Amino acid sequence: MKRPGLFNEELLYECYQCARCTGSCPAAFAVDGFNPRNILLTYLRLGIEAVITDEKLWCCTTCHVCEDRCPQLIDVADLLCSLMNEAAMQGHIPEKVRASAEMILRTGRALLVSRRVDSIREKLGLKPLPEVPMEEVEGILDQTGMAVLIG
Ligand code: SF4
Ligand code: SF4
Repeated sequence: MKRPGLFNEELLYECYQCARCTGSCPAAFAVDGFNPRNILLTYLRLGIEAVITDEKLWCCTTCHVCEDRCPQLIDVADLLCSLMNEAAMQGHIPEKVRASAEMILRTGRALLVSRRVDSIREKLGLKPLPEVPMEEVEGILDQTGMAVLIG
């Protein structure tokens, strides 16, 4: 089986499917059908192609709560990050993720900050958002290869 990242693949076989990871996962609570325990099992049983083509993979917020709760100390979040990286390299990037990534490429932010946001901040007595240092952002995007992945 092709190993897509730096997680401990041997340790995945120590999973005894207790589902504590899924029971602790905020994304599983919010998104019907997103199940880190099941992703791990599917990866081991059917291989990488079976999981990287499923857009639900991208519901993981990489909060790492699952790793904190796993009795077997399995790095579930690292597995999911590695699978998302592999999915992206093979072109399986959901449209919403691609749109956010393109926004970061253009503005340095994942979401458009509208004038309405500025005026709400003003009403709340908050300072305007600072300018994004685009040179630094572009450097990070180059070094991580994200600019190439997104095109
Ligand atoms: S919490 Fe750990 S042992 Fe339990 S199902 Fe999740 S990965 Fe497997
Ligand atoms: S890292 Fe991902 S899978 Fe793990 S608890 Fe957080 S959202 Fe769920």
